[in-house]
Amino acid sequence: MEWAFGVAREGSETHVTNAMDQGEFPLNNEVALSVYTRMTTSIPMRVPFVLIILIGVTSCTGLLPGKKADTFSPSQSSMIMAAAADVPMRIFVITNYEDSLLLRSKSEDIIPNPKDKELQHFLLRLQRTVTDSMAMGVGIAAPQVGILKNIVLVQRFDKEGFPFEAYLNPVIRQYSEKKRPCREGCLSIPGRVDTTQDRSYAILIEYDRPDGSHNIEMVEDFTAVIFQHEIDHLHGIIYLDHLAKEIKDSRH
Ligand SMILES: [Zn+2]
Repeated sequence: MEWAFGVAREGSETHVTNAMDQGEFPLNNEVALSVYTRMTTSIPMRVPFVLIILIGVTSCTGLLPGKKADTFSPSQSSMIMAAAADVPMRIFVITNYEDSLLLRSKSEDIIPNPKDKELQHFLLRLQRTVTDSMAMGVGIAAPQVGILKNIVLVQRFDKEGFPFEAYLNPVIRQYSEKKRPCREGCLSIPGRVDTTQDRSYAILIEYDRPDGSHNIEMVEDFTAVIFQHEIDHLHGIIYLDHLAKEIKDSRH
């Protein structure tokens, strides 16, 4: 991702707060990123057997039934393990054609296995990448370093010390109707900062943590916008798409 240092400073110092004070928390179900399938009574006899196996596998990982998760592919592993944990990875940019194709692709779930040494190595390199002096971002998504896995790193401006934390397989379950205009930049879109108007002020997110735990949490304000920006990357969406929508909306 993501925001130039100046943007991070702006968010942390001038926009910290007060969702509860304003009493505006009307969450709705209008937007959902996941679509659940329902079993119907017409399923052939052999299909339930397959479904039972799938549910058995996914329940071991803490993931939702029906979601496909895997470890890194051999090519992803070689990219991750090509350098030590304190070496930043190359950031993919939309100005490079090959990079842009990957940035526009959807990512897949990762098995949240705390014993997966490649996953731990990747998370260290991802943090090293986003905190690198050349980047100074406040968040980053795995596709931005060429890894199409549902992994984001977010700086928690709503927690003491503003720690970077890793989230696996994050899904936004609810969005507040209240919006939060925000100046956004992106590590994959060098030299630009724009103001988006359609980010929700608060979101309800569900995710796995690297220690294998699973959680649902309400996040607000600037940190909520970072989550929305990063989770967009996992779906091949970049913040410029939100600007295009705003321009379109203003014509109607
Ligand atoms: Zn970004």
